Parts: sequence; C-alpha cells; structure tokens
Amino acid sequence: MPSRSCEICWVNRRNRQTLNSSTNHAGLGIEFHEVEKRYGALVALRRMNLSVAAGEFVMLLGANGSGKTTLLRLAALLLRPNRGQVKFPGLPDDSMERIKARIGVVAHTTLLYDELTAEENLHFFAQLYDLSEIDERIARALDSCGLAHRRESLLRTFSRGMRQRLSIARALLHAPGLLLLDEPATGLDRQGLDWLASTLESLRA
Ligand code: ADP
Repeated sequence: MPSRSCEICWVNRRNRQTLNSSTNHAGLGIEFHEVEKRYGALVALRRMNLSVAAGEFVMLLGANGSGKTTLLRLAALLLRPNRGQVKFPGLPDDSMERIKARIGVVAHTTLLYDELTAEENLHFFAQLYDLSEIDERIARALDSCGLAHRRESLLRTFSRGMRQRLSIARALLHAPGLLLLDEPATGLDRQGLDWLASTLESLRA
C-alpha cells in the first residue's frame, strides 16, 4: 500500500463484470505520446511518453510540482494537451464521452456536494452514469467504505477522511475500466488505509 503523499495510481480492470448492464467494464489501457502541457509560459509536462496496458497497476512518485496531477487530469480527459496525444488503445479518438464514462477519478477536489447526503451524492452520480441496480450498488458501496451508518448525513458534516472514503466509493461505483487516484490516502485513518489497500488489491486480482 502506498504511504507517500505524492502517488497517482492507475488500476485497470482486466475483467468484465456483470453488475452493470449499461456500461462496458473491460479494462482500459492508456498511452501518452509526446504529450506537452503548458500553463501560460510554464511547461508542466514536456514530451511525455507513457504506456499503461489494461490490467497494469502503476504508481507515479515525484516532487511537488513535477506534474503528477497534470498527468492524471490529462488521463482523465479533464485537460487537453497543448501538444501530443492521449490515446486509449482500441478505442476511436472521437468517443471521448464514452471513454470518460469508463474512467473513475479520485482527485484533490472530491466532486461531491456538501448539501447532499452520502447516499444522495452516490445516487446523483449513479444517475449521471445511467447505472443499473442503483440502490443495491449504493448500499454495497456505503457498506464497503464504512459509511453505511452515515448514509443519511449531509456531506458537509463529514470529516476529511470520511469525504475521502466517499470520494473513493464514488469513483468505484460504476466499476471503471481505468481508475485514476491522486493522493488517495489523504485524510484516511488506519482503517481507511486498510480498506483502500484491500480494495486496490481486489481490483488487481
Ligand atoms: P504535482 O501534482 O506533481 O505536484 P502539478 O501537476 O499539480 O504537480 O503541477 C505541475 C506544475 O504546473 C506546477 O509548477 C504547478 O504550479 C503548475 N500548475 C498546475 N496547475 C496549474 C494551473 N491551473 N495554472 C497554472 N499553473 C499550474
């Protein structure tokens, strides 16, 4: 289990699952070809080449400001490169929305809503992704991340670690083919770290 605070992980699921009939769960590989990302005059990534196959688990370590979050945001299709290409082998470049639907992201911002309960947050996300068996899926997710007893609490009442647990549960809810985690251990207590470690381990199996 990564313990440093600067990791970014990819977990690509090898296997198709049967839980959701409305999305494709096959593992998703990703390739960076000569990718460059600039913020004004600042070059955050220069001629980046990286290939991660479906089923691979990759951790990136680097100093603050070395471009890890930028790389993750490019992989999640939340940013566009100034030069070069981000490709998903076997998938046409024009299906970005469909590709996005197969990616799970845990980022610095949790992408959760303060004025919704834990359950409502997951419900909102499930509807956004047009998931099947929503109630069962959410119940399992809340149970898994240890927040079932707080399912009716507003997110704004959650601690940092509880938010992180829910953020991870949200990212996994649609059984993504590519999971992108930016400093996923942030705020987690020992139990939370154990849960994250066993969750990642089960995804690798
Ligand atoms: P890391 O995740 O490795 O700490 P980042 O990818 O967040 O690094 O940042 C890489 C570089 O890009 C840093 O110098 C950072 O200041 C800069 N940067 C990141 N995001 C922005 C932004 N939105 N606007 C301007 N500069 C940015």
